[in-house]
Amino acid sequence: MAALNLAEPPPRPRLPEWLRIRLPTTESFARTRSLLDELKLHTVCESARCPNHFECWTKGTATFMIAGDRCTRACGFCAVTTAKPFALEADEPQRVAEATHRMRLKHVVITAVARDDLKDGGAEHFRRTIEAVRALNPGIVLEVLVPDFNDSDPAINAVLLAKPHIFNHNLETVRRLTPSVRSRATYDRSLSVLQKAKALAVDAIHTKSGIMLGLGETEVELFEALQDLRRVGCDILTLGQYLQPTLKHLPVKEFVTPEKFQKYGERAREMGFVHVASGPMVRSSYHADEFHLP
Ligand code: SF4
Repeated sequence: MAALNLAEPPPRPRLPEWLRIRLPTTESFARTRSLLDELKLHTVCESARCPNHFECWTKGTATFMIAGDRCTRACGFCAVTTAKPFALEADEPQRVAEATHRMRLKHVVITAVARDDLKDGGAEHFRRTIEAVRALNPGIVLEVLVPDFNDSDPAINAVLLAKPHIFNHNLETVRRLTPSVRSRATYDRSLSVLQKAKALAVDAIHTKSGIMLGLGETEVELFEALQDLRRVGCDILTLGQYLQPTLKHLPVKEFVTPEKFQKYGERAREMGFVHVASGPMVRSSYHADEFHLP
């Protein structure tokens, strides 16, 4: 009998049918690819190995990732590279604006790596990017998906000064699992960031957050997290299945069925979220344009 190799990680479980995706390469996918290459832009679609990459790019949408593609944190679920980041590129806001214009986006999602090396965590760069996008694309809906900025009021304020319509910051998981899933971030700090965004915004703003399921959370813990999000005034919620990007990342504990996602979505609506996207393939920015500003 062959000896068991304890150094080998366990094989990844087979994906259930509802998570299998076809990978078409269409002309519109190639157009998105070449535009992003030409403008030297990063997307979280690629960097985080998003399973919706093909669908979204074929539709001509993408989520821009500013401030480089090297993150100062190393979360157990995330495929973005952890390394010492490069300096910010002063013309990146303009390039994001140009891409948004050429892609004719009506709703843009802009995110960034965590830049703990910068005093403001990259908040000013967010502000400049939002302003550049709005200047070239009047009427566009602007959604930002921000890191926690270490809960700094000036940093959160800098982003809010540019008046994004939607301020998204992910809670990612339930309280108990946060220390093992996220690096440096804390559950309460994330709730605080969302609460501050509501309180500090001059005009009405929609706050949004997302939780990955399948990391070992219980239903009770999930509902507590949803309640905590409502307590800080969070309006929009995304619930999606966690998928292990590589064998070095946290394993999937459960493939949550589409029926359960539906049930959780209904429960969240009853709790008062004004818009909920809940399904195995849902990610923070997946079909983000389906939320219409009132
Ligand atoms: S869901 Fe978001 S991150 Fe994933 S491919 Fe679509 S736009 Fe990109």
